[in-house]
Amino acid sequence: MNCIYLTHGYADGHYVLPPLPYDIAELEPLVSAETLLLHHDKHHAAYVAGANAATDELRRINNGSLGPEHAACATQKLAFHLGGHILHTLYWHNMIGVPPCLPQGAFGEALVHSFGSFDSFCRLFATVAESVQGSGWAVLGVDPVSRRLMVCGICRHQDVMVPGFTPLLACDVWEHAYYLTWHNNRKGYIDAFMRHVNWQNVAEIFERSCSHGY
Ligand code: MN
Repeated sequence: MNCIYLTHGYADGHYVLPPLPYDIAELEPLVSAETLLLHHDKHHAAYVAGANAATDELRRINNGSLGPEHAACATQKLAFHLGGHILHTLYWHNMIGVPPCLPQGAFGEALVHSFGSFDSFCRLFATVAESVQGSGWAVLGVDPVSRRLMVCGICRHQDVMVPGFTPLLACDVWEHAYYLTWHNNRKGYIDAFMRHVNWQNVAEIFERSCSHGY
């Protein structure tokens, strides 16, 4: 994905839970400290554990200690849990208590080129985030074919995902991300999320994606 923050999610041959890049109260009232603690320490940690377990199962299938009939389940488990690990790591770094200035430079130009204007992009991103059925994500990323920016809605952590799509900005719309604070008001949470995006971080990931490419 060319996201430098993901390197914090792997060490000594295992996926690891990276620390939050800020204090747990920094994102209030967008995300309460209680929600952030549960979300990171319980939910994200479970995806890390699941990704390690699935990887271990695939290693055992590879060395013959686990039968091939487990392969389909192990690969589905890996996609779900590793997808969760990747998207949550990105999500934590995409948010900030006091956001920097709006997108500028090459990233700002790419947003305008792809969506017409920054405001149009924000409307599309929020609309996609609201329309995800059940648990999932809204993600801004780079289409590997056109190299233009694209907004996708992802179901769970991995379904309806375009292969090779490079996520830059991810908004978690699973209920565990907002329900303690926002209850059923997903729109309120999404609007608040858009006011706490760390555009500097998103631009940095975009620039790495452009320079590394495929
Ligand atoms: Mn989540």
